[in-house]
Amino acid sequence: MRIGAIEAGGTKFICAIAETEFQGDGWSKPLIKESISIPTAKPEVTLQACLGFFSSAEPIERLGIASFGPVELDPLSPQYGFITTTPKPGWKQTDIVGFFKKTLQIPVFFDTDVNGAVLSEHRWGNGRGLSDFVYITIGTGIGGGIMANGRLIHGAMHPELGHFLPQKHAQDNFAGVCPFHGACLEGLASGPAIAARWGIPGEKLADNHPAWELEAYYLAQVSAMLAMTLSTRRILLGGSVGMRPEIVGKTRKILSTVLAGYLSWLESPEAVESFLMNPLLGSQAGILGAAALTLD
Ligand code: ZN
Repeated sequence: MRIGAIEAGGTKFICAIAETEFQGDGWSKPLIKESISIPTAKPEVTLQACLGFFSSAEPIERLGIASFGPVELDPLSPQYGFITTTPKPGWKQTDIVGFFKKTLQIPVFFDTDVNGAVLSEHRWGNGRGLSDFVYITIGTGIGGGIMANGRLIHGAMHPELGHFLPQKHAQDNFAGVCPFHGACLEGLASGPAIAARWGIPGEKLADNHPAWELEAYYLAQVSAMLAMTLSTRRILLGGSVGMRPEIVGKTRKILSTVLAGYLSWLESPEAVESFLMNPLLGSQAGILGAAALTLD
């Protein structure tokens, strides 16, 4: 089957056409045939460019959109398929699903970028065989998608893990960059927070810079909170910061200290190793997530 996928981000929209086949154990990992990266400009310009890409190729049967948020996911809401209250200029109340349904006349599937990544890791990555796990992306922002009892969590809207309020590190006097909360997880540990705290963007900081110890301290707290509240079995740390080689290891160490032996199932080093890891699909988790939305 030929499917279309859009990973809709705050700086760029990645569009892809992929092929997948139904095999004995489910849909095969989609093979990306063509893809394009379109800058996130005004909605009418960006959406039209995406449409141009899909219209110029052989027709697709379904389209999956994994989007930055907040988005409306309640199918009964008149605003289903909208990007809603985003601070991104021009994108407030944008009917992204409606646009593609009207123009392409095919079924369109929609969820958050991180919930999409949960689905792709569940089908083809490090979430295989797990009915309870979490995907967290740490980059320009921080977001998390959650699978519990084999289903994505939506609830009233969708999880906003990035705005969890961690305990500040005793030596951290940085106020945080979140315009809403200051020192929430995103305010303290996202890429822009790292750049603002140290005056240098994260990608230019050495692997042994103290920034990463502090980063792991905050990621260990959200991990402990998820282990305690959801009793989740695994957390995948993705995004440009989460995929840095030293982050998972440092976070595992601090997590054990934070848990203090309270969760017996998460006590041994092997258990912690299996609990915290990177996504197998790496930077492809997002676009394959958009594709996976069409296969549920
Ligand atoms: Zn916040």
